Amino acid sequence: MTIDLDFDRDHLWHPYTSTSKPLPTFPVASARGVRLTLEDGRELVDGMSSWWAAVHGYNHPVLNQAAKDQIDRMAHVMFGGLTHEPAVELGKTLVALTPAPLQKVFLADSGSVSVEVAIKMALQFWLSQGQTGKDKLLALRNGYHGDTFGAMATCDPVNGMHSLFSGVLAKHHFAPAPQSAFEGPLQEEDVAAVRSVLEQHSGEIAAIILEPVVQGAGGMRIYHPGYLKAVRALCDEFGVLLIFDEIATGFGRTGKLFAMDHADVCPDILCLGKAITGGYMTLAATLCTDRVAAGICDGEAGVLMHGPTFMGNPLACAVANASIQLLLDSDWQQKVAAIEQQLKQELLPLKALDSVADTRVLGAIGVMEMQEPVAMEQVQQQFVEQGVWIRPFGKLVYIMPPFVIEPADLSKLTGAMRDLAERS
Ligand SMILES: *Cc1c(COP(=O)(O)O)cnc(C)c1O
Repeated sequence: MTIDLDFDRDHLWHPYTSTSKPLPTFPVASARGVRLTLEDGRELVDGMSSWWAAVHGYNHPVLNQAAKDQIDRMAHVMFGGLTHEPAVELGKTLVALTPAPLQKVFLADSGSVSVEVAIKMALQFWLSQGQTGKDKLLALRNGYHGDTFGAMATCDPVNGMHSLFSGVLAKHHFAPAPQSAFEGPLQEEDVAAVRSVLEQHSGEIAAIILEPVVQGAGGMRIYHPGYLKAVRALCDEFGVLLIFDEIATGFGRTGKLFAMDHADVCPDILCLGKAITGGYMTLAATLCTDRVAAGICDGEAGVLMHGPTFMGNPLACAVANASIQLLLDSDWQQKVAAIEQQLKQELLPLKALDSVADTRVLGAIGVMEMQEPVAMEQVQQQFVEQGVWIRPFGKLVYIMPPFVIEPADLSKLTGAMRDLAERS
C-alpha cells in the first residue's frame, strides 16, 4: 500500500500551507523511538517531537498499552453529567504537580481551546464581580497562543498574522517582548513597559497572558525568569489576573517540570497541552485557582460557559496519565540537562558564522536564528536527504527532540544545522 501523495496534494490542507502552490509532503509509514520511517524506507532522526509533544519518542510500549487498555473499556463517553477514572486520575495528577493554589481543572481538546477557556475564565471572573469594563487582555509581542480567533487576538499583532483579520479580532493591549536574557540581570525597562500599560489601562484589562520563559512559535525567544515574578507583583498591584500558557514549555522541556518553576511563580490560570499525552493525541487542560473558580461561579451566569463535545476524552486522559507517570518515573531531569549541555556545545558556537544571527539553548530546546529567512522547500529536502527531520520557519531553524534521544542522534541534528549555516 502506498500513500496517495497526489490526493494529499490535491485535497488535504496541511498546517499553514497553500493548496494552489503546495510544498512537498513526506510520507511517513511508521515511527519508533526518535526515528520516523518514510515510506521508501529512509529513516529520519526526529528533531521536532511533532511540535513539542512526543517527549518519550514514538510508538512507546507503555503508552501503546495504556491506549489499548482504555479502548477496550471505552474510547469516549460524554463528560456532561458523567465522569470516569482516567479524567479523575489526570485531574489529581495535574493538581498535585502544579503550584498549590491551582485547584480546578478544565480538560480541553486542544491547546488553542485551552487558551479560549483561559480567556473566558478571566473575562467571566471580572464580569461576575460587576466589573464590566475589564474585557481586554494584555499580551506580549512575539507571543503565540494558538490559531482560534480568541487565542489569535493575543498573538503578536505583526508576526501572528493579526493584520489580515484585524476587523474581526478582539483588540487587546500589548507590551514589548522581554529583552532580558535568561542568564544575567533583569532589565528594568522590561518591567517598566508592563507597568506603563497597566498604569494607563488596568481598568480595562482582565488578565495578562504570556508564555513563561520561552516564547515559542512567535520567535523562539528565551527570557529571564525574574520577569515572571515582576509581572506577578504587577498583576497583584493593579488587580489583573495572570495567565501562563505552558502549552509548549510544560512537562520538562525547559529543564524544569514547568517553565514557571524557574521563578517559583504561580499564575491564576494555567494552560497545558502538547506534551501532556506524550504526543499521542490531542488533549489540553486549563487550571485555575479556587478564587478564580469561585468568582466565576458566584456570578450571574453561575457556571463556566464552556463544554466541548470531546471534553475529558477518556482515551486521551488514559494516555496522558501513562505519559506523565512515565516521565516522572524516568530520569528526565538528567536527560534534559544532558541534551542542554550537548546543544550548548554544538549549537552555540554556530553564532560565529556569517549566516547566523543568534543561537540560543534552554533545556531540550536549541535555536539557530539565521540572518535571512531560509528557503523552506530546499532546506527541508536537504534535511531529509541528511536523515533528519527539522522544520524551520522564517529565519528560525530549531530543534526540540524527544528526551530519549541519544547523543549520536542529537549530533546528527546539530550537524545538519551546522551544514545549513555553513552553506548559507
Ligand atoms: C501550540 C501552542 C498553542 C496552541 O495549541 P494547539 O494544540 O496547536 O491548538 C498555544 N500556545 C502555545 C504556547 C503553543 O505552543
